[in-house]
Amino acid sequence: MKGLPIAIVGAGTAGLASAIFLARQGFAVRVLERVPELQPVGAGVLLQPSGLAVLHSLRLLDECGGLGAPVSRLYGTTAGNGRVILDTRYEHWQPGSFGMGIHRSVLLTALLEAAQQAGVSIDSGVTISRFTQTVSHVRLYRQDEQGMEQPYGDFTSLILADGVRSTLRAQMQVKQWLQPYPWGALWSIVPTPAGSDSSDLRQWYRDCAQMFGVMPTGRTHQAREQRLSSLFWSLPVAQFGAWREAGLEAWKAQVLQLAGSAAEPFVQLIERPEQLTLAVYADVRMQRWHDGRVLAIGDCAHAMSPQLGQGANMALVDAAALDTALMAQAPADQAAVDWSAVFNAYAGSRRAHLRYYRQASRLLTPLFQSHSRSLAWLRDSALFLARHHPLGRAHAVSTLVGARSGWLLSGAEQRALQVWRGAAQPNQALS
Ligand SMILES: Cc1cc2nc3c(=O)[nH]c(=O)nc-3n(C[C@H](O)[C@H](O)[C@H](O)COP(=O)(O)OP(=O)(O)OC[C@H]3O[C@@H](n4cnc5c(N)ncnc54)[C@H](O)[C@@H]3O)c2cc1C
Repeated sequence: MKGLPIAIVGAGTAGLASAIFLARQGFAVRVLERVPELQPVGAGVLLQPSGLAVLHSLRLLDECGGLGAPVSRLYGTTAGNGRVILDTRYEHWQPGSFGMGIHRSVLLTALLEAAQQAGVSIDSGVTISRFTQTVSHVRLYRQDEQGMEQPYGDFTSLILADGVRSTLRAQMQVKQWLQPYPWGALWSIVPTPAGSDSSDLRQWYRDCAQMFGVMPTGRTHQAREQRLSSLFWSLPVAQFGAWREAGLEAWKAQVLQLAGSAAEPFVQLIERPEQLTLAVYADVRMQRWHDGRVLAIGDCAHAMSPQLGQGANMALVDAAALDTALMAQAPADQAAVDWSAVFNAYAGSRRAHLRYYRQASRLLTPLFQSHSRSLAWLRDSALFLARHHPLGRAHAVSTLVGARSGWLLSGAEQRALQVWRGAAQPNQALS
């Protein structure tokens, strides 16, 4: 018997991927999104084999792979002498495996269309302002155009996928922390200049204080002929005003001094400061991710710095884990699902994986974004080991692909969730 629908707040990666899985299990699902219309905007995102495995099980890997750009390695050198600092290759994980640079709009368009085809109803232009819950249901309230609160409807459960700045998370009876990072990044997406195509995600560093990066980003549904690249420039958030005042030419000179001629065709394409957008990020930690019939997933539950390139992947893996937890209950009567038990099982399956990546991203971020010279030395020494010692290499690449759930050697083997190992071996569980 079908009961009340499931509500998902937020039509980002976490919300839409979860909606598809739950609808394909036969549940009535409504996604509520405050943005009136999905636009082809957003930064390039690096999808790891862990995220690609989820896209494969959503049957979206062909579509996304047809537009995304394969990334074979992360390659970073210092300014001046060009010393190699970072050289992590996906083939060291498994021959044939790869990451994928993708425009956020490509991922979201693919997810949105699949959600609609699965029968998910999408209510856009709806800002949910509050929820209450009883033993039998969750009630949502929305803010209308005049800023007045109106009841929106009753739902059997509520998935909060409303991102790092969630206003609903604080209404859960759960201890939680949000800590903004002092550094952010300026980013832009530009057409890839002729002769600059590469499958490397390329970075250049000066100590920990300067970083310029170029990531292949593939193409979009709207412009299938044009290859794109994402540019990233590290910046302390407090210096954004000074950066604007200094002017674009001063910035270009800094980039060229750091990265040399390889960066020139890219920075030439930046003609106005508005082409660069400042992204700020924060860590979110919650004592539990669920409270009765309410579950937080994605950035809302565990946002982290993008240094490890894991956020969208974690959102996808969350969705797959929720699917598995619900499937395990195999409810004959959908109205009788024990949501608290499902969310408990979900949390148990996500704990170790998310703990490792939260700790790793907290540890790594100041090694790439701070003013400390000693941290630069520490980073370069650790990454030297990661390149030259087989165990270090295995740790680095298993972290990159999204496969680890702990710091010890066994951390990569214990993961129950799957990672994409390349076309030859689709979607195999780690052994
Ligand atoms: C500069 C930068 C680079 C990044 N690079 C990478 C990368 O290379 N690889 C990677 O995996 N990740 C990367 N990330 C992280 C990644 O973008 C996020 O982790 C991911 O988008 C989180 O998805 P989400 O669905 O949880 O949240 P979001 O994508 O933030 O979606 C939340 C949605 O909820 C909606 N919403 C919010 N509040 C309400 C409300 N009250 N009512 C209705 N709707 C609401 C919002 O409009 C939004 O659509 C990067 C992030 C940044 C900032």
